[in-house]
Amino acid sequence: MEVEVDSPVSESPAPGTTSQSWTPQSWRNFEAKQQPSYQVPERVADITKELSGYPPLVFAAEARELRRQLAQVAEGRAFLLQGGDCAESFADFNANRIRDTFKVLLQMAVVLTFAGNLPVVKVARMAGQYAKPRSADTETIGGVELPSYRGDIINGIDFTAEARVPDPRRMLTAYNQSAATLNLLRAFAQGGLADLHQVHGWNLSYLENNPQREKYAQLAERLQEALEFMAVCGVTSDNTPAIRETVLYTSHEALLLGYEQALTRTDSLTGKWYDCSAHMLWIGERTRQLDGAHVEFLSGVWNPIGVKVGPNMQPDELLRLIDKLNPNNEAGRLTLITRMGADTLGEKLPALVQAVQSEGRSVVWSTDPMHGNTVKASSGYKTRDFDKILREIRDFFAVHRAEGSHPGGIHLEMTGQHVTECTGGAWKISEADLASCYRTQCDPRLNADQVLELAFNLAEWLRD
Ligand code: PEP
Ligand code: MN
Repeated sequence: MEVEVDSPVSESPAPGTTSQSWTPQSWRNFEAKQQPSYQVPERVADITKELSGYPPLVFAAEARELRRQLAQVAEGRAFLLQGGDCAESFADFNANRIRDTFKVLLQMAVVLTFAGNLPVVKVARMAGQYAKPRSADTETIGGVELPSYRGDIINGIDFTAEARVPDPRRMLTAYNQSAATLNLLRAFAQGGLADLHQVHGWNLSYLENNPQREKYAQLAERLQEALEFMAVCGVTSDNTPAIRETVLYTSHEALLLGYEQALTRTDSLTGKWYDCSAHMLWIGERTRQLDGAHVEFLSGVWNPIGVKVGPNMQPDELLRLIDKLNPNNEAGRLTLITRMGADTLGEKLPALVQAVQSEGRSVVWSTDPMHGNTVKASSGYKTRDFDKILREIRDFFAVHRAEGSHPGGIHLEMTGQHVTECTGGAWKISEADLASCYRTQCDPRLNADQVLELAFNLAEWLRD
């Protein structure tokens, strides 16, 4: 992998452009929403220059492999599971948090693979999910107005004037914490923690008191029998990487474009540009303007990319966005992550699916059932109700089945910790319970129990 940031020369045109005009910095000629106003621009330039000399976090060939697997999702032969924190935090950076989210992602994947009968492509919303789009530039508490918190890569969450000043050095911390997180995820995935024999064992301590314990125990029992049968046939952890190891890809919202540019490199094998800050990057609902900087930037890198699709998206607009981001109609390149809200999806999604179908476009359809269902509890906490989340997923499946299209994946805000941020689920978390363990940096996440409950429901719909 060569380091050639800021070089305008690439050996091949970018995937989303028909000309050679794209460069890692061409986004600067477009309007970039949701960017911080740094006080000393020269300091920002020094830091992004430093970052551009640092090693890439991922290898381009890994991103290509993810793209190949997502092509299978687009064809209905695999399912995409993408999940993790709304926002990772510098303060909450520790091995247990990473391990718990890893475990719950894997546990969910086992349920979906085994009970849903489909291979699962696992993509963590981790190791780089540090930048947040905000609905307003400032927030006011008790008559005091301060700049909004924009994620730890930009400013601090404390409600003080000092904390809210954007500090470019935070990009270096984000890079370092992403590297350490990724290192641990790779170790967990390949070093034995993901061995299917282990996954079976997790239920003993981890699921104690879990209302889903019985269901999980039955599934674990069947998995154990299958593993024993395979062992008798000579297929074991020792001789079969597929049983011993897993692959977990990383992803985040490509929001802070100076940082993403600094991590964008030409791949020495293919000569193509890759954003090496993560395997997969997505564009958020607030920055997906066709003539905006974020669409320009991601149109030019060869990673698999996603775009959030909210309830105001029109079929024509969607087709133009697809044209810009995936002009060669390559399967696995583009994931459309719909986030409509449970009450709106049934009305808005069919026309979008029909447009994509009738124009013969290959996309992965994934559902984010979180962002269209956020409400404020009477206690003031932002929350989401488990039943609404389930309903949006169920309706997503129903619409795709009715239109003859594939419900390809799911995008969740979740944690392996036992937080109380979303109401409902088997434990019937109420609005009054939210205060007992409300930890999120930003949006409310499903906890480990709720994720597992959701996985069992999802597995049924996958089988239908
Ligand atoms: C998010 O994924 O955290 C997010 C902000 O989503 P959206 O862009 O859909 O609002
Ligand atoms: Mn969020």
